[in-house]
Amino acid sequence: MKAKDYRTTLEPVWCTGCGDFGVLKGLTQALSDLEVPVEKLAVISGIGCSSRLPGYVRSYAFNTVHGRALPIATGLKVSRPELTTVVVGGDGDGFSIGLGHIPHAVRRDVDLTYAVLDNGIYGLTKGQASPTTDPDLKRELGLAGAGERPLNPVLMLLGSGCGFVARTHAGNLPHLRAMFREAIRHPGFAFVHVLAACVTYQPGSYAEALWKRCSMLPDEYDPSSFDAAIETARAERFMLGVIYRRPTDRVPVTANPEPLESVGIWPPVGATSGSTYPG
Ligand code: SF4
Repeated sequence: MKAKDYRTTLEPVWCTGCGDFGVLKGLTQALSDLEVPVEKLAVISGIGCSSRLPGYVRSYAFNTVHGRALPIATGLKVSRPELTTVVVGGDGDGFSIGLGHIPHAVRRDVDLTYAVLDNGIYGLTKGQASPTTDPDLKRELGLAGAGERPLNPVLMLLGSGCGFVARTHAGNLPHLRAMFREAIRHPGFAFVHVLAACVTYQPGSYAEALWKRCSMLPDEYDPSSFDAAIETARAERFMLGVIYRRPTDRVPVTANPEPLESVGIWPPVGATSGSTYPG
């Protein structure tokens, strides 16, 4: 199937120039590259501008409730493991109301691809500050929380133990396509941080500054190095590419390297409520 064959007949209602168009295109191109049959595809979202995307992709599509796309997608994937399951949403949906679900989805390591279209603003509700809004922009637009630093999503996902973390830009279609392809291929929870600007609620200079702040990871970059990934996530520049891909023989950084049976289990075998538990 060609990328266009993954599109439904619904016309997107996004503003002209919105980065969500790029994500839709990059995703359908990657699905075409991987030859994912539409009857084996699910696209799940929360609420927001980018969360409209499932309606435009031929799939089992579900535009769910605010911040709850990950648990719904997890339930779907464990009950229907044959479905390639992609979760999409924005920074408000994923990093504010939905934030608590991220580390749990990561530690369960269910085979989902989670793409957050991070434009650093709430677009659907007309331009409030989100957890990733740039402080200078907050000052310029008079938004609340100008003194608060933005969240670093890539660092947060790495710290949670995510086995695949990539970053791309909605304006770079070949790169977006490649990152989606790699993420969908990853056999576990994969996170794609998609940078974009909101053309309606941010000044044009924001998009330009964002683009200028991006650089490609160099060819010699080693995505199997967790230390390199942390350094990359903390860099001033937004480095684009596969930032971390955990080798299959390595346990998540957050896990105890000892097998569970050798470190004991809790509660102890035979414990009964009220007798063995402290307090
Ligand atoms: Fe895109 Fe912003 Fe328009 Fe929403 S408001 S569709 S994020 S440009």
